[in-house]
Amino acid sequence: MPGKTFFVDLSRCTGCRGCQIACKQWKQLPAEQTRNTGSHQNPPDMSAVTLKVVRMKEVGKGDDFKWLFLPDQCRHCLDAPCKMAGDDIVKDAIAQDKETGAILFTEKTKDLPFDVIRGACPYDIPRQNAKTKVMAKCDMCNDRVLAGLKPACVKTCPTGAMNFGERDEMVAMAKKRFEEMKKTNPKAVLVDVDQVRVLFLTEYEPRLYHGNLMADAGGPGSYTRLAVLDKLLSPLRQARG
Ligand code: SF4
Ligand code: SF4
Ligand code: SF4
Repeated sequence: MPGKTFFVDLSRCTGCRGCQIACKQWKQLPAEQTRNTGSHQNPPDMSAVTLKVVRMKEVGKGDDFKWLFLPDQCRHCLDAPCKMAGDDIVKDAIAQDKETGAILFTEKTKDLPFDVIRGACPYDIPRQNAKTKVMAKCDMCNDRVLAGLKPACVKTCPTGAMNFGERDEMVAMAKKRFEEMKKTNPKAVLVDVDQVRVLFLTEYEPRLYHGNLMADAGGPGSYTRLAVLDKLLSPLRQARG
């Protein structure tokens, strides 16, 4: 398995959007028409030409307030529900790089039903080009990584919030930082660490951040996204013994 992994320390993210712009530059994706939604977040959502968006939430903290940022992107799930759903329809339209573990949307995704693939993703990541019907998302900058470079977003991050490397090293780094964080912030969480290749460490309780942060962001009593993920993965786990 091991492959590569990101570790994103949200306590160090200043919301500068350098990663969002670096992604556009490396991928040569155009700017898009946007609109004011009452937040500094811009654009308001991901799209087929915005593969990474820094989500912003303003929360009250006593008499003060705090910006909570989430540099949102594909998590490159270890057992990716989007790929499992896609393989049932067009085998390997959604591929996985054996070396890095990156989950890759190919041209063949145009033959997949978009609502099924988007609905399978616990983090609401897939988007679709309206003209070509090809689906789009972060590809881990797999071309750069296979050439020994870091992803463009990681390379540009000025604060050290974003880290990238071998999975074992990143998991160890994330867990060490998590232990430090818990001393001052007992509600900090290392999100979905055993399920994904993009490890977000929160400073506060995760529900304060944008709802796409965690796979179990569903409301009380509802089928949570984590439950759906577990349901999708259980036959695979049984087959593996
Ligand atoms: Fe964009 Fe590459 Fe970062 Fe993915 S890894 S968000 S494609 S810059
Ligand atoms: Fe697929 Fe969503 Fe996981 Fe990315 S985050 S690999 S799009 S299921
Ligand atoms: Fe946060 Fe780093 Fe992205 Fe700036 S470049 S928004 S600090 S993750």
